[in-house]
Amino acid sequence: MNDKKYSTIHFVGTGPGDPELITVKGMRLLQEADCVVYAGSLVRERVLEYCRENIEVHNSASMHLEEIMDVMVKAAKANKKVVRLHTGDPSLYGALREQTEILDKEEIPYDVIPGVSSAFASAAALKKELTMPGITQTVIFTRMEGRTPVPEAERLSSLAVHNATICIFLSINMIENVASELLKGYSPETPVAVVYKATWDDEKKITGTLADIAKKVVEAGITRHALIIVGKAIGDHADTTSRLYDKDFKHIYRQK
Ligand code: SAH
Repeated sequence: MNDKKYSTIHFVGTGPGDPELITVKGMRLLQEADCVVYAGSLVRERVLEYCRENIEVHNSASMHLEEIMDVMVKAAKANKKVVRLHTGDPSLYGALREQTEILDKEEIPYDVIPGVSSAFASAAALKKELTMPGITQTVIFTRMEGRTPVPEAERLSSLAVHNATICIFLSINMIENVASELLKGYSPETPVAVVYKATWDDEKKITGTLADIAKKVVEAGITRHALIIVGKAIGDHADTTSRLYDKDFKHIYRQK
């Protein structure tokens, strides 16, 4: 496909904020880049410190899609090394496809380097597992409807019936609705954690239950950059442990 010898554009997951949480490959691509486009609102500018000096850097926060694509396409056609930074992992709420569709039309090659999603950074901040034996083996990634519609079958009240762990993106400004929708399936005592700016210097964690989390979040004044995690798995469990390390549990790497 790369007969025209345009350079490959790299979509790189930057991780949740801490510059050390980018992958080694992502860091190397930034070190080699001639042109970097990043979304200023959530990609922490400190990762740009990996770049060489005097390269072309664009903050996409104030640019629309055509402008962003124009910059990247021109740079790739000029055979420059282009990195497009996405927050967390590019596969989640990253608007990747609208960019790759244009690159396909332009016959510009690209690849995607995964990143640490804020869902995993938030679980780490809480020092919790999202899956727990005997409690849930399922994690749902979702959001409340905003300007982007959410299919009817995926309303929070419908997802709530599974009582699985649920990670809710892009919805902290609607925490009251989130809690009332989830209460249609989860019990009011279900543990909830809100992690604001996981891995940033001003990270905040608020824990509570479905009954009281909305009040706590409103009191803390958190209206953006936060992930909501709900489910029994993130509560306290002195009584349940994984069987993986149990001495009676035989598996392929450890015969009894
Ligand atoms: N691709 C990203 C998600 C982008 S959507 C990822 O994998 O994390 C933006 C939403 O992600 C925010 O509204 C918030 O819900 C969440 N988010 C991104 N960075 C975050 C962080 N450092 N801490 C908590 N939530 C974060």
